[in-house]
Amino acid sequence: MIKLEKVSKVFTLESGSFTALKQNDIHIKKGEFIAIMGPSGSGKSTLLQLIGGLDLPTSGTITVDGVRLDQLNEKDRTLFRRTKVGFVFQNYQLLPMMTVAENIALSLAANKTPKAEIDSIVNRLIREVNLEGKASNFPSQLSGGQQQRVAIARALAMKPGLILADEPTGNLDRKNGQDVLQLLSRLSKEERITVVMVTHDRHAAKTADRVIMLRDGEVVQGEWEGAEFH
Ligand code: ADP
Ligand code: MG
Repeated sequence: MIKLEKVSKVFTLESGSFTALKQNDIHIKKGEFIAIMGPSGSGKSTLLQLIGGLDLPTSGTITVDGVRLDQLNEKDRTLFRRTKVGFVFQNYQLLPMMTVAENIALSLAANKTPKAEIDSIVNRLIREVNLEGKASNFPSQLSGGQQQRVAIARALAMKPGLILADEPTGNLDRKNGQDVLQLLSRLSKEERITVVMVTHDRHAAKTADRVIMLRDGEVVQGEWEGAEFH
């Protein structure tokens, strides 16, 4: 599903350049639930952005679902991002003036899906993330865990094969975090959606099938349970 070969990312700054990712080879299978861990600044978010087509590598190749992302033009990369990937963020990024149903429907409406079809998809997604009865609520009327489940429902609307989540449980207490992790785990197991999640949370990492550890922009092998994260 995801294949990175010799992927590097160098940011050019006024003061010089900074290598955020160094020559990484990463393979992830369809339906795998992956946790990316590592100290702050080790390149986790940068890696997620490259896999999601939000940014381009400086060198190396990235293939996602048979598509060479590093070879796409800007327009096709935007299309890839909108239709093939669901993004989930630590701070949910819901639109505060829109209801739960409207937030979930955003990408569908942008994609000119007929109204009746949008309603049926939104209702199904609301059931899927366990938010029955909340369709007309505004984000401020929900708990953090509920807001994150709305964000996941929104990410699922275009039926992506891949969910990329950057610290999805970072703002949640243990119980709400567990609910979100269970949901991501179920999506990978039952719907064979590939889930790549950046996390600092050991419990979150244990829910995943596999941990990829980054240090100073490089994947490191070995024990992660005793490692320090910030
Ligand atoms: P993590 O998510 O593991 O904390 P990031 O991937 O956000 O780390 O960042 C890795 C390194 O790359 C950091 O040192 C960060 O400062 C640097 N970096 C990230 N994005 C940019 C950017 N757009 N321009 C310059 N440097 C960046
Ligand atoms: Mg980060």
